[in-house]
Amino acid sequence: MPLTKTDFMFGSQCHRLLWWRRHGPDARELQPDRVLQDLFDQGKVVGQLARERFPAGVLIPSHASRVDRVRMTAEAIAAGAPAIFEGAFMVDDLFVATDIIVRADAGWHLIDVKSSTSAKDEHVPDAGVQAHVMGASGYPPVRIDVMHLNKAFLHPDVGDLFARTDVTADVRPRLREVPDEAARQLAMLDGPIPDRAIGLHCDEPRACPFKERCWPQDERHIANLYNVGPKKAAQYMSSGVHRIDDLPPTQKLPDAAKRQLRSLKTNALVVEHTLGRALAPLDVAPLGFLDFETVSRAVPVWPAMAPWGMAAAQFSYHESRPDGTYVHVEHLAEGPHDARPALAQKLVDATRNAAKVVMYSSFERTQIRALAKAVPSLGAELMTLEAKLFDLLTIVRENVYHPAFRGSFSLKFVLPALVPELTYNDLVIVNGMVASVEIARLLFVADRIPLEERDRVRRDLLAYCERDTWATVRLVETLRTMA
Ligand code: SF4
Repeated sequence: MPLTKTDFMFGSQCHRLLWWRRHGPDARELQPDRVLQDLFDQGKVVGQLARERFPAGVLIPSHASRVDRVRMTAEAIAAGAPAIFEGAFMVDDLFVATDIIVRADAGWHLIDVKSSTSAKDEHVPDAGVQAHVMGASGYPPVRIDVMHLNKAFLHPDVGDLFARTDVTADVRPRLREVPDEAARQLAMLDGPIPDRAIGLHCDEPRACPFKERCWPQDERHIANLYNVGPKKAAQYMSSGVHRIDDLPPTQKLPDAAKRQLRSLKTNALVVEHTLGRALAPLDVAPLGFLDFETVSRAVPVWPAMAPWGMAAAQFSYHESRPDGTYVHVEHLAEGPHDARPALAQKLVDATRNAAKVVMYSSFERTQIRALAKAVPSLGAELMTLEAKLFDLLTIVRENVYHPAFRGSFSLKFVLPALVPELTYNDLVIVNGMVASVEIARLLFVADRIPLEERDRVRRDLLAYCERDTWATVRLVETLRTMA
């Protein structure tokens, strides 16, 4: 089996990762979930639109065998094709399919299409392996571009949807490395699983799907220290600090991390005496609780939206009543048209009487500001709502720590630790990214989903969003008790 471009990229990240991919392609970790599948689908849409920029291009069918694809590419080149899509090349057991190659006076231009909004460092080795195999096949590209989405584009027609970044000078020095690295990977695949210590390469350029196999599942691992990203965790590990307990006493840490250390030392919940005062602004009525779900498409479909821009398409809102119960209002967009005006109106109506509105993280604030821009006729009302927002995450982070938080203050960790009786276990949709993909499916490709499934997904989405605001209600009650 030759190495494909994708294999080579995974192998360049970590030989062990490539070994597992090639020796166990059916592994649970490698099955794309809905979010990853949606990312692939978005990439296909972008790729198709990019091809439309080269109307006389010849497409090499990707369902043909590799040998046939290489042959058809050579034939298209010989026949004078001005551009080729999915042009395939193979040398020394290294196979690549190129997104677009374009014939120019001095030779061929290689264009690698990406659905990101900029050219990234990780795109350089990707283009490098393609350029190497093209060159070794007799067609060295004279220019190499990453064609990506243009972050300045606004739907429907402000600017160009695509931008191109010339990466030729970055790719050239990498070309020499490709054949040796490919030979190392091919030899490695013939042997037993290689050893590789964990480190930054497990997260960059992409999070490895096998982290659960290699990383210790230990709440005291240094990667679980509050506010430690992959880079800092790798630095700690290379300096010999693998567990939070290994930290030297002189280590400078943010207050939340110091609280984490205290909590881990006693293996107990830590509650600061400042918690009651921090919650005092919530001693008002009616008290609201708000949560949004959003959609985000590579190629935007609603007015004035940029590639991958986020737009609120669903909300759940609980509001306290004088008798101690709560009223619930919810909204989930329907149909492909711009969901924001109707959602904004319902949101303004629902929250009009609230004295304060609790959210968890600053995400809701960002969305309300975006809504005010998108629906200027309700701008003043939405700004009034923004002034009532109260971020509960900040209060938890500055006052509370439980060992089960594992260094994170996301509801996913905070809720089971502080309100264990309230779970998401009975729900089908249990995270915001899946919710976002499912909303997009309902809005934009509903005609491809059986009616029964559509109804079920709507119910699942409504249940998930409602649980998020109810969780915040219960969390405030719990925090008050703790205070
Ligand atoms: S978790 Fe890290 S070491 Fe393990 S396979 Fe993935 S990248 Fe390699």
